[in-house]
Amino acid sequence: MSVCVYCGKEADTREHIPARNLFSITANVPFITVPSCKTCNSGFQMDEEFFRNFLVSILYEQSQSATILLDNSVARSMRRKPALGLKMFEQMSLVDYYDGFGNYHGKKTAMHIKPAKPKNTSDPTGAGDAFRAGFLAGYLRLIEKKLYGSKLSFELSADELVVCGQMGSVSAVYTVEKYGTQTHQFTLKEFEMRYKDEF
Ligand SMILES: [Zn+2]
Repeated sequence: MSVCVYCGKEADTREHIPARNLFSITANVPFITVPSCKTCNSGFQMDEEFFRNFLVSILYEQSQSATILLDNSVARSMRRKPALGLKMFEQMSLVDYYDGFGNYHGKKTAMHIKPAKPKNTSDPTGAGDAFRAGFLAGYLRLIEKKLYGSKLSFELSADELVVCGQMGSVSAVYTVEKYGTQTHQFTLKEFEMRYKDEF
């Protein structure tokens, strides 16, 4: 008799690891299977479905596999269980996206960047430019790292973009704390310390 890995009772099904629903095509995935009872197996199904839907929702613009899942199994899952879909969308925000030329590109997933806290709000002039400078400094460093690695890619992941945004935020507080647009200064070391303090 095989025993359920979760509860120790008699196992009558097998559970796939990682969860099958994370893959758009399962044919060549080397799944591990473990014995599980029906109760435990179906007990995790809801969590696995939520986890899959959530991952797809944040990755669908960056991964082909996520797009296929979104158009097929995730769409079906949302129609079957609208409450699960609602729970998922509550955690995201969609915004209208315009590029620098004012062209509308539809709704995009928004990322929240936690702002760095200025010690005083002496003068906000220049904060936008300083934010862009900090963001670009992060962006170029991360891209450079990728180009020196094996991956020839100019795309950053959501997590990496958050780092760039946070660097922009740290850069912006320096100018807010000083009167005038280019009256502030910091060393690389100071910037690093400030980043660590803030995030
Ligand atoms: Zn069990």
